[in-house]
Amino acid sequence: MRIEEIRHWGARIADWAARYLSTVRDRPVRTPQAPGVTLDALPASPPRKGEDLAAIFADFERVIVPGLTHWQHPRHFAYFPCNSSPPSVLAEYLTASLGVQCMLWQTSPAATELEMRVMDWLRQMIGLPDGFHGVIHDTASSATLSALLTAREKALAWRGNAKGLSGQPAVRVYCSEQAHSSVDKACWISGIGQDNLVKLPSVGKLYGVDTAALERAIVADKEAGHLPAAIVVSVGGTSVGACDDVRAICEIARRHDLHVHVDAAWAGSAMICPEFRDLWNGVELADSVVFNPHKWLLTNFDCTAFFVRDPEALVKTLGIRPEYLKTPGSTVGRDGIINYSEWSLQLGRRFRALKLWFVIRAYGIEQLQALIRDHVRWAQDLAARIAAAPDFELVTPPILSLLSFRYRPAGAGDLDALNARLIQAINDDGRIYLTQTRFRDEFVIRFVIGQTYTAEADVAFAWEVIQQIARGLPR
Ligand SMILES: *Cc1c(COP(=O)(O)O)cnc(C)c1O
Repeated sequence: MRIEEIRHWGARIADWAARYLSTVRDRPVRTPQAPGVTLDALPASPPRKGEDLAAIFADFERVIVPGLTHWQHPRHFAYFPCNSSPPSVLAEYLTASLGVQCMLWQTSPAATELEMRVMDWLRQMIGLPDGFHGVIHDTASSATLSALLTAREKALAWRGNAKGLSGQPAVRVYCSEQAHSSVDKACWISGIGQDNLVKLPSVGKLYGVDTAALERAIVADKEAGHLPAAIVVSVGGTSVGACDDVRAICEIARRHDLHVHVDAAWAGSAMICPEFRDLWNGVELADSVVFNPHKWLLTNFDCTAFFVRDPEALVKTLGIRPEYLKTPGSTVGRDGIINYSEWSLQLGRRFRALKLWFVIRAYGIEQLQALIRDHVRWAQDLAARIAAAPDFELVTPPILSLLSFRYRPAGAGDLDALNARLIQAINDDGRIYLTQTRFRDEFVIRFVIGQTYTAEADVAFAWEVIQQIARGLPR
């Protein structure tokens, strides 16, 4: 394909994208397509000769799009959102066109320096003090793994990378039972092990970790000869939005010399609004913080913001400098040079700072705040309607824009089974999309507001759909 064809096809694809995004609400949010349909529509072997882009594009529309779940649908209220927005899409096109590698400062100086600048903008936007330094990771999972690797190395006096973990005392990590599964996975991958992840009960109005139980567990582990290394704090847990008491946990960590990593993957975006910062009061005492602008800050997946107070410790853990990666005349931190691959798990890095820069500039702090505030307010309105309905139960009131509920008509028998049937029926219907969780051992339905194009009317419509389908269920 000739470079010139980008002009023609770029325009066609831009046109398709604008049409798709402005009409996506007419599609079912979750595809009704059965498993295997897309696979069967694709040839089993690759083409020998190159094909026309016209044919490829036609198949994209015919075979791929009908089999998608539409994450940019304004009535996608499932999981957590995965935002896109026009400035982000346009910046992604530029990133792909440039195709630069952002592993070292010298492999893309402007990309590195833009990343330094926009991460510092983001730090200011969420109210972190200026001792924190940011890097963009692909996902919160990678950032949490990086944080736990750093904590492991600090606890082992930097012996883990060199010697491995055998023969070392057991490195222990603590979190709430509400913590995300990426914490478990980070313990698997880092060699810490599932059995050394201590999960503590969650209590109180925000379902935060029981801090007295946390400190008892640390003390008991020390007495047993284990090596307490880190506490992972949840701010806005995935299930029902659980928030730990960050300040109390940081004080415990300080007494026992532990690393505190704050996982605010979803809720972190809301911290651009000062009135929500109570939810992570004390965060300035943490060692590292992660949140995902690719969830709720209008920036395409992938874009994770990882902030650390001590970049030297991170670089000491992840930085590796074979001869072919050395930049003559530079070392970390000298002359302001940062090689961000030394702050990340992977070597090669996409130019992700560009889309963040486009988004922050195109909306400004005020429009981004207005979007989050709308979502939170609409969630509160919806919660009031659910609480007022005689045959529904609001199970967890909104934490930011996440709430959970269940259908509880008088005389119903097995509520778990009834609600499982309800969510299946809602998602088969396709007008809205929701997911479930378990809370206090009950099956509950989650409702999250956060999609870029959601309007207040979409939330009201969703509530109509839920009631209509619930009341029509065969009993
Ligand atoms: C979404 C989420 C994650 C995982 O995010 P990825 O970027 O997909 O790895 C981790 N923690 C919490 C609380 C989340 O909501």
